[in-house]
Amino acid sequence: MIELKQLTKTYKTRNKPTTALANLNLSVQKGEIFGVIGHSGAGKSTLIRCINLLERPTSGEVWVGGVNLTSLGQKELQIQRRKISMIFQHFNLLSSSTVYDNIAFPLTLIRTPNSTIKAKVMELLSLVGLEEHKDKYPAQLSGGQKQRVGIARALASDPDVLLCDEATSALDPQTTDSILNLLLDINKRFKLTILLITHEMHVIQNICDRVAVIHDGDIVEQGPVAQVFLKP
Ligand code: ADP
Ligand code: ADP
Repeated sequence: MIELKQLTKTYKTRNKPTTALANLNLSVQKGEIFGVIGHSGAGKSTLIRCINLLERPTSGEVWVGGVNLTSLGQKELQIQRRKISMIFQHFNLLSSSTVYDNIAFPLTLIRTPNSTIKAKVMELLSLVGLEEHKDKYPAQLSGGQKQRVGIARALASDPDVLLCDEATSALDPQTTDSILNLLLDINKRFKLTILLITHEMHVIQNICDRVAVIHDGDIVEQGPVAQVFLKP
């Protein structure tokens, strides 16, 4: 579902260029939960931002669902990007919009009829357990509830791929577990492919099928979680 081929990203700063990704190859199968773990500065956020081309790789190819995204023009890319959703460490909700409108947002962008939006948003509110909170604003919610809104918004466009950028790093352990369980449930229910980046081993061991360890911009080890991180 996701293929990264010889991916290189070099940031050109004033003083010296930084190579964040160096000829990285990665393959994520349809329906799996794949985790990328590594220390700060290893290249995790550059990697995840390259998948939907929020960040343009310096060289190499990004394939999602059999399409070479790096070969597309802006218009085609916009269409393909709807298959790829993302959730964030700090949720990135619209603070002056209600829970309902935050979840509806991706659908209003593509001019979906209001009745379709309403049915979809109500279904998603139920999925993430926030029906009672639909008229609240983000500031009135707990961290876990905010991430549930983020997840519902990400699912509104019926994506094939969900990218999770340190999605539980701002949450306490108990809330982290409830969000991970929700992600697992969504993965099973919709056969959604999930790629997550994290610096927390706990996240990997809890929900990932396979894991890759990233170090200095390249994958240094990968495989099934139990194999890469043998339990003593
Ligand atoms: P991680 O998410 O694992 O902490 P990053 O992808 O953020 O790693 O960073 C990888 C490397 O690229 C680091 O050396 C970081 O300083 C550098 N880097 C990341 N973003 C930028 C940027 N916008 N400009 C310059 N250097 C960057
Ligand atoms: P517009 O501003 O385009 O008229 P709205 O965003 O006010 O549209 O509403 C669009 C649709 O979503 C309407 O059918 C409305 O009933 C429904 N809707 C909007 N907000 C809520 C909400 N908080 N709870 C339930 N339905 C809502």
